[in-house]
Amino acid sequence: MKKHNFYAGPSILPNDTIKNTAENIIDFAGTGLSLMEVSHRGKEFVAVMDEAQYLFKELLNIPDTHDVLFLGGGASLQFAMIPFNIMKSKAAYVNTGAWANKAVKEAKGFGEVVEVASSKDANYNFFPKDYEIPTDADYLHITTNNTIYGTELHTDLDIDTLLVADMSSDIFSRPVDVSKYAIIYGGAQKNLAPSGIAFVIIRRDILGKVDRFIPTMLDYNTHIKGGSMFNTPPVVPIFAALQTLKWLKAQGGVEAMYKKNIEKASILYNEIDTNPMFKGTVVDKEDRSLMNICWVMNEGYEQYEKEFLDFATEKGMIGIKGHRSVGGYRASTYNALPKESVEALVACMQEFKNLKA
Ligand code: PMP
Repeated sequence: MKKHNFYAGPSILPNDTIKNTAENIIDFAGTGLSLMEVSHRGKEFVAVMDEAQYLFKELLNIPDTHDVLFLGGGASLQFAMIPFNIMKSKAAYVNTGAWANKAVKEAKGFGEVVEVASSKDANYNFFPKDYEIPTDADYLHITTNNTIYGTELHTDLDIDTLLVADMSSDIFSRPVDVSKYAIIYGGAQKNLAPSGIAFVIIRRDILGKVDRFIPTMLDYNTHIKGGSMFNTPPVVPIFAALQTLKWLKAQGGVEAMYKKNIEKASILYNEIDTNPMFKGTVVDKEDRSLMNICWVMNEGYEQYEKEFLDFATEKGMIGIKGHRSVGGYRASTYNALPKESVEALVACMQEFKNLKA
C-alpha cells in the first residue's frame, strides 16, 4: 500500500534527494569513496558547498548584501546565536507559538525582550498583526509559519527595524523578498534536507555592532569568512540540501512551488470546511498555513477522534496526528508532498463521513 507522508518534520523529501544522497553515500562523485569518508576540503565537496550556496541564493533571489550559511545546532541554536550577535540592549518578539516562545526565552539572556504581540491566550490560533515596535528595538523577531498551530504570515513585513524571521517550516514554499530581512533562518528538516543543519541567510552589515565577547563558533562572521566551512560541516545534510535545491529549480522554482502549495492546501481546507465531521482550528482564514494544516472533529463528532486517526492511518496516511497541544489532526503539505497524497487524504475523510455521519 502506498504511504502518504504527512509528518511535520523531519518530513517528506523529494525522491531525487533521497536516491542521489543514498548513491553518493556509497560512491561520492565517482571517487569510489563514500560521501561520509572524504575530506570536506577536497574539490568534490567544496563544489557541493559552492553549488548549494549558489542555488540557494538564485532560487530565493538573495541580494549580494546577504550570505547563506549551513550551520550545525538546528534552528534552536539560532534562537541564542541571533541575540548573541545582534542584540545590543533590547529586542522585540512576536509570540506566535511554542517555537517563538523558545526564541523569546533565549533572547532574554542577552537583554530586554519586549513581546509586542502574542496569541498565546488563544492557544496560538491566529497570527497577531496589530502591534507597535519600540523605536529603540535592535530587531523584530517573527516566526512566519507556526508548525504546531498551522498559522502563517503570508507577506513580508515592511518595517524600519531589522527584521529577523524563523522560516523553518515555510522556506522555499513561496517567493520571499529577502531584501526586507536582516536574518532568515530555520532547521533544514522540512523543505530542504534531513536534520543536522540550520540554514541562515544573513545581511553582513548588521554584524560587529555588539560589545560582548562572542565565542568563535557562535560568531556569524567566523562562518561567513570560512564559507560555512570554518569547522567540518555536516556533509550529508548539505549534500542532500543541494539535491533538493536542484529538484526545486527543475520544478520551476519557488513561484511554481507556491502555486502547487496553494492548490494542495485549498483542496484540504475545502474538505475541512465542507465536511460536517471536521472543522479547522485557525480562526482567521487568511492566517491559515500552506504547510501545516490543522483540524479537529466538529461538535457532535468528538467521540470519533481516535477512530478517524486509526482509519486514515490504516489507509496509508502517515503522521496526521495533531500536536498534543492542539489535538485533532495536522497534515503537513511540504513542497515534496504530491497533490495525490492530499487527494488520498480527502478521499479518506469523505469515506469516513459516509460511514458515520
Ligand atoms: N522553529 C520552528 C518554526 C520549528 O518548526 C522548529 C522545529 N519543528 C524549530 C524552530 C526547531 O528546529 P530544530 O529542531 O532544528 O532546532
